[in-house]
Amino acid sequence: MSEAEIGARLECLKEKVAAAARRAGRDPSAVSVVAVSKTVDVEQIRDAIAAGIEHVGENRIQEASEKFERIGKAPCGKAVTWHMVGHLQTNKVRRALEIFDVIQSVDSMKLARALDERARDVHRTVDALVEVNTSGEVTKYGFVPGEVCEALKQICVLQNLRIKGLMTVGPLVDEPEEARGAFALLRELRDEASALRLPNVEMEVLSMGMTGDFEVAIEEGATMIRVGTAIFGARGR
Ligand SMILES: *Cc1c(COP(=O)(O)O)cnc(C)c1O
Repeated sequence: MSEAEIGARLECLKEKVAAAARRAGRDPSAVSVVAVSKTVDVEQIRDAIAAGIEHVGENRIQEASEKFERIGKAPCGKAVTWHMVGHLQTNKVRRALEIFDVIQSVDSMKLARALDERARDVHRTVDALVEVNTSGEVTKYGFVPGEVCEALKQICVLQNLRIKGLMTVGPLVDEPEEARGAFALLRELRDEASALRLPNVEMEVLSMGMTGDFEVAIEEGATMIRVGTAIFGARGR
């Protein structure tokens, strides 16, 4: 895909994001876009960054590592924030912290503790989202909704982990409308968690919505959508 084509796709995406936000009476600038670039080559990712993408998402450490070596945090003078959006094994936490600014997929207490420990070792704090399995699908990672508040109470004492909000992957459905309930659930959990007023926990980010369902997610309150296909085209593998 040419740079111009990626630019045009981004423009089109931006218009849809703005329209969905307006339908919900929300400010379009309150929704940020993470370009999920798994399987996409470095040149195309650079094109997307040149066209205005500020957040890049990857789901596997090995692949992210190779791309990060070549792209870095400020290609062509533009700051890029790297987001880990896939399941992270604790033995890869060390490398993950060298690459990513945000870990969106904190899906267990074990991972939360490993991230906190490693972040302390390297004298940093790491921004993170707590992943919630809102669909109940057994193939999905994340805390079950009923566990989220208790998990946050345990996580908030981890001084080197800074929780910024919640993340979910919507259910696999034919019609985006069928995903609405899952997104509404994440928003309700966010409200519940905010009310706890836990130290070290902010609930500003609701990361939900992908190519097939981002409009519904925005209508339900998404502040961050994670989009691959709509920007880079269908993945070959
Ligand atoms: C691949 C992926 C996306 C983007 O999916 P598209 O349907 O291509 O937009 C978003 N979130 C996660 C966690 C992913 O793995």
